[in-house]
Formats: sequence, C-alpha cells, structure tokens
Amino acid sequence: MKTIFEKSTGVDGVSFGEKEYKKYLDKEFLREEQIGIPQVSELEVLRHYKELSDRNFCIEKGFYPLGSCTMKYNPKVNELLASLERFTNLHPLQSDNDSQGALELMYKLQNALKYLTGMDGVTLQPAAGAHGELTGMMIIKKYFEHKGEKNRTKVIVPDSAHGTNPASAKMCGFDIIEVKSDSKGQVDINSLKSLLDKDVAAIMMTNPNTLGIFEEKVLEISDIMHKNGSLLYYDGANFNAIMGWTNPKLMGFDVVHLNLHKTFSTPHGGGGPGAGPVCVREELKDFLPSPVIEYDGEKYYRNYNIAHSIGKVRGFYGNFGVLVRAYAYILMMGDNLKLASADAVLNANYIKEKLKQYYDLPYDEPCMHEFVLSGEKQHHQGVSTLGIAKRLMDSNCHPPTVYFPLIVHEAIMIEPTESESKSVLDGFIDTMIKIAHEIEQNPEEVLKSPQKTPIGKVDETLAARKPDLVFKEL
Ligand SMILES: *Cc1c(COP(=O)(O)O)cnc(C)c1O
Repeated sequence: MKTIFEKSTGVDGVSFGEKEYKKYLDKEFLREEQIGIPQVSELEVLRHYKELSDRNFCIEKGFYPLGSCTMKYNPKVNELLASLERFTNLHPLQSDNDSQGALELMYKLQNALKYLTGMDGVTLQPAAGAHGELTGMMIIKKYFEHKGEKNRTKVIVPDSAHGTNPASAKMCGFDIIEVKSDSKGQVDINSLKSLLDKDVAAIMMTNPNTLGIFEEKVLEISDIMHKNGSLLYYDGANFNAIMGWTNPKLMGFDVVHLNLHKTFSTPHGGGGPGAGPVCVREELKDFLPSPVIEYDGEKYYRNYNIAHSIGKVRGFYGNFGVLVRAYAYILMMGDNLKLASADAVLNANYIKEKLKQYYDLPYDEPCMHEFVLSGEKQHHQGVSTLGIAKRLMDSNCHPPTVYFPLIVHEAIMIEPTESESKSVLDGFIDTMIKIAHEIEQNPEEVLKSPQKTPIGKVDETLAARKPDLVFKEL
C-alpha cells in the first residue's frame, strides 16, 4: 500500500495569502526556508485520512465481540444532539442562569442513573471507569477517616476482578487482599470470611463478574461485610446485563461506578473521552466531589456546598458531550433498556451453547452478558488463543478479549451485546467452528493469519520492547 504523500504534487492545500499574513507577523517569526513537508492538495489530504480511517476496525465495519468492553452500537442520533450549537458553544463558567438547559440535562441524567442503580447521590465528573473507581475509593477512605476508623486500610478484591480494581484501590493508599473464586466461578464465601477483620474497609465486586456469571451469594456477602463494618463497592462498568432487572442497591452495595462508554452507548473514542459516574448511598452523599447538580423547584444549580467533599476529580463537570449522548440514549430507550439487557444476555447464552462442543467452557453455567471459553484444547493442537484471535480478523471480525480474566487458561471472553441480529451471531458461530476444525486439520495454516489486514502478523515482544514509531511508507 502506498501513501498518497509519494504522489506529492507541490500543490498547496489551503493558501492563507502569504502577503496578507506577512503584514501582521513579526519578522523574527517568519520561516525563511521551506521545511520539506509534502505539499498536497486538500483532496489528497482527505484521501490520506480516509485511507487511514479505513484501516481501522469499528463496529460499523463488522462484529465486535470484545468481552468486558460492551462494544454496542452507538446511535447516530446521540452525535446529532451532542453537536447542537447551544451545547457546544456553552462555556463551563457561564452562570447557572445562562446554563439552565445543560444543568437540567445533567440533573436528569443523575436521576436516571440513581433510578437504575437504586442509589441516592451521583457525581458525573469522573472521565472513565478506572477514574470512577478511584473516586469511589476516595469517598470510602474519607468516610472511614471521618468516622475515626483510620485502621481500615485493606480492600478485598476477587481473583477474577478487572485489573483496574486493585490498581485504583492501591492508588488510593489501600492494601489489596485477593479472595479466591470457587468452582462455580463465584466469590468463595469461606475464603472471604477468613480474610475479614476490623481493618477491612471494603470489598470491590463486579456482578455479573468478569466470567459473566451472576454472584448468587451477593446478599450473604453484603451481610457479612456490613456486619464487619465494611462497605461494598460495585464495579458497574458492565451494567449491560441487569438494566431494569435488579440493581446494586438491592444487592447490598454502597458505592457504584458506571461506564457510560460501555452500557450507555457513548463512543469508547480510542481511549478518548469517556465518563464513569459514581453513585452512592445516602450516608456517603456528603463525600461526593463538588459540585453536584441540584434543583430547588424553580432553578437548576451547581451545589458546591458538600459537607465532606473529597474535592474535584475533574475539570468543571466531567465530559459534558458524553453526558449528552448517554442521556439521549436513555431517553430514547426508556423501558426498552430492560429489553436491551435481556437481548444482550440471550445473545451471549446462544453463542455459548452453540460453541461449547467445540471449545472448552470451564464454567458451564448460564451466563449474563458475556461468557469465557478456554482455548486449552486448541493450544494442545498447536494454536493458542492468540492464534484464534488473529484468525478471526481474516473473517472481518474483531477478536474477543483474550487472556482475561486471569483465572481461565487461554481465556476467550465473548460479549456480543444486544446490537446484533441472529444472522450475524450465526455467522460468528460458523466462523468459530470453522477455525476449530482448521486447527484440528492444519494448524500451520491458521498460524499464518491475519493475512487480510493492512498489517500482518507482528512480533509482539519486539513491538512492545523496541517500538519503531518512525513514519515509513508501506
Ligand atoms: C472497562 C472496565 C473497567 C475500566 O473502565 P475504563 O473506562 O476503561 O477505565 C473497569 N472494570 C470493568 C469490569 C471493566 O470492564
């Protein structure tokens, strides 16, 4: 593939009118020689970027079953609403009076999230899931300090947890204690009990957990923890399985974060802007970051007066454009959020049942929005999970999440979401079965993948250790 720059034609894209700007610029700032960048026309520049974007994989291009990431369809109406000039031209320092519409939107989004989580207070500030975790743990820390229980320095995290959980608690100054999963892939109650003492501040749980399995003993766990004076943190990054069916309050949790860029259809943005609102129970409301958006019956306003606030965790009010998209999605869906969760769970179970004859399924339980296969059998036949993931790329499919959660060998974590039709799911199932057969018959051929992507197989160790980031024409 050639880059268009090779076709450099010496044509300027846009001319600012050299003589004009020279009038206004100080001589010392004027460049005397050309710097030797390619000169191409506006159309050629557009072609360059279009070509680059075509190399990228996205849900508009094909199936994207990336477990734990909830790569659902992001409705285009969200974009339309977020780009309304009255939102985009609003300055965050504008007065409450001038910002009533934006404040109302944030207030109503807070309420919707309270409704879905069962919680009593919300901050929309955190910019990502991990940022929400850090915020939640800071709230828990300050809560215990305020109660005079500074001894509570330990946080329990299941061995199946997302890596951000121990990292966030650690960044907050807590010591991490791991609790084992039992043979059903759930928190082992006896192990949990043996870890408890008066120094435990909280347990961080994901439910459904990262195996896609619902923690059946969650009420018992909540009871045990509260009796110990400890709190329960709910990692709600993957809320897609339970919307409207149950909520973290009913399960006995005290603090929750949600990922708007997963469950609530805002773009993941290539690591760009996201939102990880944190919702808390009544007793913890006084510790939320300020301001919180409130309504006095006539006016919406920013309340900076929060008794024991942990302070701000983000500039202004978080990523406002993301909040607009999430609110648009929630309004558009209404009661259908419940159906979205039902379809997400149905789709995951459908694929799981169809594939379990061909791949190992270490936890053969009904799953929620996702499930985890093991590529152990295929590994013995000569192709590891990584090879299966690469082979899928040649069928216009984004690979599932691999090698996570850590407690499953050769893990393949599949999350189809509710967005896909049955024929797309069937196509994926057929491809996975075909790959299993290919590995039995001719593993060497499978190992040649990916062959249809712009960049073929890379040496991952070399790429990580000695990245070569210099521009090259391909
Ligand atoms: C995605 C995810 C996170 C982290 O969210 P980010 O927005 O990527 O920081 C935390 N926990 C779980 C279970 C997740 O799936």
